[in-house]
Amino acid sequence: MNNLLILAIDTSCDDTSVAVLRGNKILSSEVSSQVEIHAQWGGVVPDIARREHEKNIPIVYEKALKRAKVKIEDVDYIACTYGPGLAIDLEIGLNFAKDLAIENGLPFVPINHMEGHLLSGFLGSDPGLSLDQKKLHSDNILKPQGSYQGLSLFPAIGLLVSGKHTELVHVQQTGEYKKLGETLDDAVGEAFDKVARMLNLGYPGGPVITEFAKKGKSGEIVFPIPMKNSKDLNFSYSGLKTAALYKVKELREEGKPEKEWIYDFCRGFLDAVNESIKIKLDMAIEQYPEIKAIFVGGGVFNSEEMVRFIGNIARSYGLEYIYPKKEYRGDNAGMVGIVAYYKIQRKEYITDKNEIKEIDREPRLSL
Ligand code: ZN
Repeated sequence: MNNLLILAIDTSCDDTSVAVLRGNKILSSEVSSQVEIHAQWGGVVPDIARREHEKNIPIVYEKALKRAKVKIEDVDYIACTYGPGLAIDLEIGLNFAKDLAIENGLPFVPINHMEGHLLSGFLGSDPGLSLDQKKLHSDNILKPQGSYQGLSLFPAIGLLVSGKHTELVHVQQTGEYKKLGETLDDAVGEAFDKVARMLNLGYPGGPVITEFAKKGKSGEIVFPIPMKNSKDLNFSYSGLKTAALYKVKELREEGKPEKEWIYDFCRGFLDAVNESIKIKLDMAIEQYPEIKAIFVGGGVFNSEEMVRFIGNIARSYGLEYIYPKKEYRGDNAGMVGIVAYYKIQRKEYITDKNEIKEIDREPRLSL
């Protein structure tokens, strides 16, 4: 099992990604980012992304094989994201992957992109993780049934925060999930983008708002905490976004120079987002006292502050904390490969060529 060679592909949004894994170990993970192309439009334009994917995918694929020092003939399984994501973009990677599987007579493993984010922490760990690093990096970390060697991580709560998703998931074991809550409108990443646009800070919004917040003071500008009093585990960010819009208007009408308030504004906004996540995570942990760990994933965890913030919550409950290494926080095919690794152990793949041909993208696929 640990010698199996997996080639994984993801084109669900604006990144063209191909990775090669030997068992659960990454040999190469190539990502061709389009963020600069989409920045001028203030967000991802699906049609432009599609053209870029078409152009990039053969190049990224060759690079990933080369860096892994393998040939397509060595590969045992082809894995690819089939949802959720942008339909016309998912299609490019999926068609490329299906052709590869059919031409080379290889089994095909269809992957849910969100499961990739959820398990992205298993691709490695950063210092500061409470787990034994050696255990985490050793071969065969998870047994086929999903129990950890010497470590109990299941059941767990998964928290996914990205440009398009904000979700809480109960993880019984790998492959066995129940969605507990999700955003009713904007995802956290979208809220960051919209507020950054109001403040003319460019795209993407998350990194710049987090950077500005570091220079701001908590409590100077206060925003309402989204969904504070709701009894369920759902999120919502449209109210916070509207509050931010009114605040910007008010501050501009007062005529104060932007540099006098913009850092406190970003701090206040980020504090409200963090607090809204903490409230729901606390609720989920209290509802499922048997959980052993918190898994996190998604582009919003590119922020070290967010990684630490959730880490502190995990520690306060004595829970293990599994978060992805920096390079696996945004979209990448490595995370697709690690999901494939566990699916292959459960024999969840397709070998029949006609069945592979029929696999269609599912833009609204859910966990
Ligand atoms: Zn993603």
